[in-house]
Order: sequence, then structure tokens, then C-alpha cells
Amino acid sequence: MRSLSSVGAVVLLSGVSFALTNSAGTAMVLGWSCALGVLAALFMRGVDEYLQEEYSGAGSLVIAGSVSVIAWALRAVIGSVHDPWTDPLGVVLATGLAWGADTVLRPGKSRSCFICKNPIEGGASLTCPRCRQTICARPECWIGRHARCHRCDTQDVVLFPVSDERWWRARLGPRVTTGACTSCFKEAHERDLRACGQCSWPMCKRCWDYHNGRCARCEWVMPRLPEALGAVSVDRPAQPSKRAAGAARRHH
Ligand SMILES: [Zn+2]
Ligand SMILES: [Zn+2]
Ligand SMILES: [Zn+2]
Ligand SMILES: [Zn+2]
Repeated sequence: MRSLSSVGAVVLLSGVSFALTNSAGTAMVLGWSCALGVLAALFMRGVDEYLQEEYSGAGSLVIAGSVSVIAWALRAVIGSVHDPWTDPLGVVLATGLAWGADTVLRPGKSRSCFICKNPIEGGASLTCPRCRQTICARPECWIGRHARCHRCDTQDVVLFPVSDERWWRARLGPRVTTGACTSCFKEAHERDLRACGQCSWPMCKRCWDYHNGRCARCEWVMPRLPEALGAVSVDRPAQPSKRAAGAARRHH
């Protein structure tokens, strides 16, 4: 998607470039090269925001560089290149301005919240373990109690590998065939239930995921949680000794 739109931008801008400069003088070629650099940077920023990806400046350098080289080549073909230095200087200006515009635009992007787009003030940001986006600490964006962003909460984005049987078996053992989920009360034939390592009450995979690997009944936490979860402070009751005891009992 990103490379497709970059190719589109190169074709479009090369056409515009050629149309504007094929009979233009030195000043026009150089002036347009500057505009081209800024346009390329703005375009890539727009694409990244649309795709909701982390902003990367490399694309705009490539676009600005290739467009100015293509326009140069086209003018050389029709014989409207007047001197040997205007066009190389144009290429340098276009890529230089693209780089400069990226540098100016980038901090605003990487230091803003993925959800509310507000700038993030000194360190008050979190990386959501589910979507890996940078989220501000405002309660409208971050749900500390559930250690996830609002978007992941409303869209039920999962954290654990749902269908990786080895993953589940290694942490909670095989599927339980009787009983009902401690949390949502769905029964063994409806949901894939796994027993708690401490109280042995079963909980379904969805609920284990929803509770970030913590038993809804006894608050035991399953071993070897995804690293991403450790990076944020999951707002669980501070009972490290009980958790450790539970883990130890599980491993005998
Ligand atoms: Zn926010
Ligand atoms: Zn998220
Ligand atoms: Zn459940
Ligand atoms: Zn339990």
C-alpha cells in the first residue's frame, strides 16, 4: 500500500515536474525542486497518517530524488537541458528540502498519542501491549486497569495467540472438558476452558486474554506472559509473594 502510493506519487509528480520545467529557466527549475522536496515530505506524512503507521522519512527522500532525476532525464531527451549544473543542483535541493521538511514534521508525529493525536508531554506515554501504539496516559485513551488502550478495548484486540495450542498447554495445561468459565460462565462445550494453576478453576481462553493472564477468581497470574505486558504497569493487586507462590506450586 505504501510503496504503491509512492510509485503513484512519483509518476504524478514527474508529470507535473516535466510540465512545469520543460521550457523553464534555471530559477524555475531550482524553485520547483525546493517545492518538490516539501511536497514529497508532506505526501509521505499524509500516507503514513492514513495508514496509521509510524512516520518514516526515507520515503520522501526517495520520491523527491527519483522525481527530480526523472524530470531531468525527460528534459534531456527533448533537449531542454541548458547547462550541466542546474539539474544536479535541483536534485540536491529536492532531496535536501525533503529531508529538512521530514525533520521538521517528524517530532510532531512520533510524540503524539495514537488515539487522541494530542502531543505527549514529558514521558507520560505508554505502549499498548495489544496494538503496540504509543498512547497517552489520559483516561480517555488508556485504560490502566486493563492495561490496554481504548481502541483495543472496544475492538476486543487479543493479546495471546488464540490458536497456538503449545502456547496454552505450556502455561495452563490441556483443555478442560467439564465445568464453566469463572468469568463469563460459558461451559466447556462452548468455549476452550483452561484451568488456573493455583485454584484450578477453569477460565476460557477469551477471558484469560481479557484479564491479561490473571485468574479472575484467585488472581494467580499465568507464567511467561508476553514481554509487551511487562513493559506497562498492569494495575493488578500488589501481591508478588502470592503470585510467586502460585507459580512455584505450579512447577512443584
Ligand atoms: Zn491520547
Ligand atoms: Zn491498543
Ligand atoms: Zn470466559
Ligand atoms: Zn485461580
